[in-house]
Amino acid sequence: MFTDARSIADKKKITTDICIVGAGAAGITIAREFANTSVKVVLLESGGLNPPDSKTRALNRGKYSGRGSNPLHNRARIFGGTTALWNGWCRPLDEIDFEQRDGIPYSGWPFRKQHLMPFYKRAHSLLGIGPFNYQVKPSEIQRIAESAYLSTPQLITTNFQFSRPILRFGKAFRNEIDKAANINTCLNANVTNVEPGDAVRSIHHVDVKCLEGNTFQVFAKIFILAAGALENARLLLLSNKKQVAGLGNQNDLVGRFFMAHPHVHTGQVLLSNPQTSLAFYSKYNRHNHSKIKGLLSLSDEMQRREKILNFSVKLSYLPDSTHLEHLSNVIFEIDGNGSHNDQPGGRGKPDQVQCFSLINRSQQLPSPESRLTLDPEKDSLGLNMAKLNWQFVPEDYHLLKRGNEIIAQEFGRLGLGRMLNSLEDKEHWPRHWGGGHHIGVTRMHADPKQGVVDPDCMVHGLSNLYIAGPSVFPTGGYANPVLTILALSIRLSDHIKNIFV
Ligand SMILES: Cc1cc2nc3c(=O)[nH]c(=O)nc-3n(C[C@H](O)[C@H](O)[C@H](O)COP(=O)(O)OP(=O)(O)OC[C@H]3O[C@@H](n4cnc5c(N)ncnc54)[C@H](O)[C@@H]3O)c2cc1C
Repeated sequence: MFTDARSIADKKKITTDICIVGAGAAGITIAREFANTSVKVVLLESGGLNPPDSKTRALNRGKYSGRGSNPLHNRARIFGGTTALWNGWCRPLDEIDFEQRDGIPYSGWPFRKQHLMPFYKRAHSLLGIGPFNYQVKPSEIQRIAESAYLSTPQLITTNFQFSRPILRFGKAFRNEIDKAANINTCLNANVTNVEPGDAVRSIHHVDVKCLEGNTFQVFAKIFILAAGALENARLLLLSNKKQVAGLGNQNDLVGRFFMAHPHVHTGQVLLSNPQTSLAFYSKYNRHNHSKIKGLLSLSDEMQRREKILNFSVKLSYLPDSTHLEHLSNVIFEIDGNGSHNDQPGGRGKPDQVQCFSLINRSQQLPSPESRLTLDPEKDSLGLNMAKLNWQFVPEDYHLLKRGNEIIAQEFGRLGLGRMLNSLEDKEHWPRHWGGGHHIGVTRMHADPKQGVVDPDCMVHGLSNLYIAGPSVFPTGGYANPVLTILALSIRLSDHIKNIFV
């Protein structure tokens, strides 16, 4: 059932089995796992069922001192969370993303991809996407069977799948959550503090406040923060009455290692032969009732040899490519021989040229300096605002540059075409966006000195406090996060079910 928290009597105390903070991708997934069981759930959501009013939206405001697009803006306070904005791109992380890699600091998850596979498959079915197939070939799709498919020791081809129809969690699961008699979803309910017991070994209750002024408390056996990565970290930092540095922050890790997936336009590919098709990469295609799109990525071997992270390229067809002759930002061109040449048309005439723009989506190196802290300025609930400094390290820039060189060389070597590289060859990032995937600020690690949560996603030292969502990812690969968020949320639900049997 849904309750408007604004109608809850001031200072009321509510008791339940599980208290989930945040009804977005992670929170709704976990609540669903307990729907219609004997376990009582209170789901606390800051937003309502309709688009948030300006006062609620303002709760997402904060200070941003990093580069590029401001990730604080890329969030939604509504039942369904940021899935109100998402585009449905789905793909699991790669095996290499879970590995502790030589020469890559802070790499490695506490388990391998194989361990997550059963949960990835359950997440697939929740999202209504097709079979778990990320190795589709154009030859399996009649309409584009003639498309080129690159598979070399350096470059690999893989694909995204799209949740169909693009699933707004708030709409898709509203009735199911409403009808579950054991789930009480409190809307317009802002958690302001997570209060531990005196010994600070477990959580006693959470404090909740409505913008209208009434407050109440929720007491539970298990608490799960699923408030989105940035709010998960902010809530821990704000909850500082008994641990002055913030809950779970005894090793100064909460808020650090913020990562996203920078999306960067890095150039254009001009095909040598206008008859060549790249439709597998540039079009949305149907395969076994799934919508898919091909992409290029670096092979594991290449990543290991070069000690670089994961990286992918999306191709978009540029219908009018004659303007390329006039591009002023073309810096250099690399072909298979490494020669430089500014004639963009290659062998074809300009009006025959087939041209594709390259959009990179890359992994970031976890960096402790890329972090969220609290700003002195307070929001209308009286809570310190988030202050985010999204940092890039030289390795991030090197990955982008090197990844593009490899792509350019492979296109040249295969005689497919040439790449005009518009990546600025200097110590600056080109224009980028992609601040919508918030990763890493409460990272998972078995050692409390290296992670905020343990491999079960329990906050180190706090036996009944768990975290769900991308804040627990130790590394982020290049894949959009929702499929992995759901897999981890289903895994966490299974863990908690075992506590209640
Ligand atoms: C424009 C855009 C496009 C995207 N496209 C994709 C895509 O194609 N594929 C993909 O995988 N990912 C995509 N993402 C990212 C994806 O939407 C998020 O990673 C995902 O929604 C995060 O899930 P979450 O449950 O951690 O947080 P959210 O979905 O943000 O949910 C958190 C919830 O917690 C609530 N909350 C916050 N603080 C409190 C509090 N103190 N008390 C109570 N409730 C609170 C919020 O109101 C919100 O409802 C996109 C993001 C954006 C911005």
